[in-house]
Amino acid sequence: MRANFRMQRLFVDAPLSAGAPVEADSAQFNYLANVLRMGDGAEILLFNGRDGEWRVDLSFPTRKRILLTPREQTRPQPDAPDLHYLFAPLKVGRMDYLVQKAVEMGAGTLVPVMTQHVQGKIHSTDKLKANVIEAAEQCGILSIPAVEEPVKLPDLLEGWDRSRRIIYCDEGHDGQNPLPVLSAIRETKLALLVGPEGGFSEAERATLRSLDFVTAIPLGPRILRADTAAVAALAVIQAAVGDWR
Ligand code: SAH
Repeated sequence: MRANFRMQRLFVDAPLSAGAPVEADSAQFNYLANVLRMGDGAEILLFNGRDGEWRVDLSFPTRKRILLTPREQTRPQPDAPDLHYLFAPLKVGRMDYLVQKAVEMGAGTLVPVMTQHVQGKIHSTDKLKANVIEAAEQCGILSIPAVEEPVKLPDLLEGWDRSRRIIYCDEGHDGQNPLPVLSAIRETKLALLVGPEGGFSEAERATLRSLDFVTAIPLGPRILRADTAAVAALAVIQAAVGDWR
C-alpha cells in the first residue's frame, strides 16, 4: 500500500496501539506546535518501525506537552526490505543525499565501507541514522533501515555471508548494459556496492572481480558520480531482481 502524502508523518521510538498515548519529544513538540501550529484534535500519522502506521490525534495536557493518541492503524507493518547497500562515504552534503535516496529506493541495511580512495569520514553513525529516519518520515517507509558501523573493504569481504550476492558497480567494466548480468542472478539475498568519488583502486577491482560471490555491473557509457551511480544501480536492481517487479 502506498503512503498518504497529505498528512504529516512522524517516527517515535515507543509502542503504538489503539488508545495508548505517546508523548511528543521536545523537537516534535516544537515542530507540531510552533512550526505547523497544530492545536488540540489535529491529526498526524505515527510509526515506530514495528507496529505499522497509525492515525493519531493531538492533545495538550499542558501548554508545554503534546500527547499523541493512536486511533486507527492506517497501514500494517510491512516486511523489512532485505537489500544491503554498501557505500563509500562521501563528503558531507552529498552523503545526506545518498542516504535519503537509498532509503527511498528500498535499501534495508546501510553499511559504510572504507575503500582506498575514500574521501568522506564517519565520526559517528548517529547523523546517518537521523537522516534515515527523516527520509522514512518523508517518503512513507515504515521499516527503518539499519545503519551499521563503518568497515574496511577487506574486512567486509573477509567476513561476508556468501549466500548474499554483492552486486558491485564497476566503473572499469567493458560492457554498458547491467540488465543481462542482473537477470542471470539466482540469489534472492543481495547487496549493492558503490565506490567513492575517486573510484576503486586497481587492486580493489582485481580482488572484487576474483570473488565468486561478487558480480560486477556496468552502468552505461558514462562515468557517474557516486551518488548518481547509487540511485541508477538501485533502480535497475529493483526493476530486474528486486521489489519493482
Ligand atoms: N573517479 C572514478 C569514478 C568514480 S565514480 C573514475 O574517474 O574512474 C564512483 C563510483 O560510482 C564508482 O566507484 C562505481 O562504483 C560507480 N560508477 C560510476 N560510474 C559507473 C559506471 N559507468 N559503471 C559502473 N559503475 C559506475
